[in-house]
Amino acid sequence: MNRRDAFLSMTAGAAGLGALFAPQLRAAPTPQETQARRGMPAIRITNVKAVLTAPPGLPRTVIVKIETNEAGVYGWGCATFTQRAKAVVTAVDEFLAPFLIGKDPDQIEDIWQTMYVSSYWRNGPVLYNAMSGVDQALWDIKGKRANMPVYALLGGKVRQAADVYRHASGDSLESLLESAQGYIEQGVRHVRIQMAIAGNANYGARTEGSGNGFLGAPSGGPHNERMYEPTPYVLSVPKMFEYMRKNLGDEIELLHDTHERISNDQAMWLCKRLEEYRPFFLEDPVSPEQIGYFRHIRSQCTTSIAMGELFNSPHEFVGLISERLIDFIRVHISQIGGVTPARKLAALSEFFGVRTAWHGPGDTSPVGHLANIALDVSSYAFGIQEAQQWPETVHEVFKGCPRLENGFFYPNEAPGWGIEIDETLAAKYDVDSRYDTPFDYSWGTTRRRDGSIIRP
Ligand SMILES: [Mg+2]
Repeated sequence: MNRRDAFLSMTAGAAGLGALFAPQLRAAPTPQETQARRGMPAIRITNVKAVLTAPPGLPRTVIVKIETNEAGVYGWGCATFTQRAKAVVTAVDEFLAPFLIGKDPDQIEDIWQTMYVSSYWRNGPVLYNAMSGVDQALWDIKGKRANMPVYALLGGKVRQAADVYRHASGDSLESLLESAQGYIEQGVRHVRIQMAIAGNANYGARTEGSGNGFLGAPSGGPHNERMYEPTPYVLSVPKMFEYMRKNLGDEIELLHDTHERISNDQAMWLCKRLEEYRPFFLEDPVSPEQIGYFRHIRSQCTTSIAMGELFNSPHEFVGLISERLIDFIRVHISQIGGVTPARKLAALSEFFGVRTAWHGPGDTSPVGHLANIALDVSSYAFGIQEAQQWPETVHEVFKGCPRLENGFFYPNEAPGWGIEIDETLAAKYDVDSRYDTPFDYSWGTTRRRDGSIIRP
């Protein structure tokens, strides 16, 4: 019997039920467990380590590798919190590794629950990203042992591929339109539109030499560099949507990210004002500290709302989903602890008619994108997937990196995530030689004209 047959027998047979009801964390397997494994030897975690790398095309990227006592069986998981990468490396190497060595990697749920309480104080991006690296590596191991891709372990495909959206940007309506048309020519059907305004450091409009949308003009106030005022931005957004709808027609889906930078009354106004342009979603109209406003927005208009990339805990989504106050969950999967909690949020969303839009920015590793895609194709609650494409330098380090075809991401069909990481090359692209500091301090630098800080 090969491993795939053994796995199927284990999950389907009555012997599997025996193992299910047996007490856990026993040193030696019971006869029922041995029978359930059909002769597969006990597997144990022998090593856990963080790999920190920054090949051109990726920022500071953290991946976890888990090795086992079974020859050639190991897994990879995304633990990338690029802003504080070395803090995650410490959490993995110095805290989680000693806690996990010797444990059974098959027990993914129990390992997640024990990691969750292992430092007593829980939540937060450092610990959750470290846990995500472990969790995703365990799913990779389970897939490799079963000889199945992870999406098959999650229930199998309900769709063949994930429809994606790409980021169009420009420093004028014309250049933004050109950027969007470039993606549409590649087959993309969903486009996020972000535009720079001279003198105002708008979010998401990366234009040549402008520094994240700031086109450099005196602010007339005490703060001049990376200055952002919400009113000119808010007034520009309906004009942008009007122009893009007029030029792209009704069938292209348009998205926009407010990035929580406006006041709550402006958010209400903008949501109502954009209704006529039917955005696929408007993201983060209010900040994580102001989620009470979603009820008011819901009562005022039908504009689709996406929220959640900055939430620290999966529990922060529960009220917004169960009260149907948002349309899309924007979960950064490594930020909430991995695939194990994410698949529960997908299931919760399905019951309440909320859809998934897993966060897929440039600072999610290719392993993390594969985790997104596995959930996309196996969950009925799928809505849309934010996508990236990487230069060949990244494909050389991450073999099996997803590629876009006609605006779709397809899952790898190889066992686990279907990705292999060249550790020698990853080490060559070390963070310390590329960056002056191991941490990313680019956030927390945009201020209003009067000098007060903008979140985020
Ligand atoms: Mg966002």
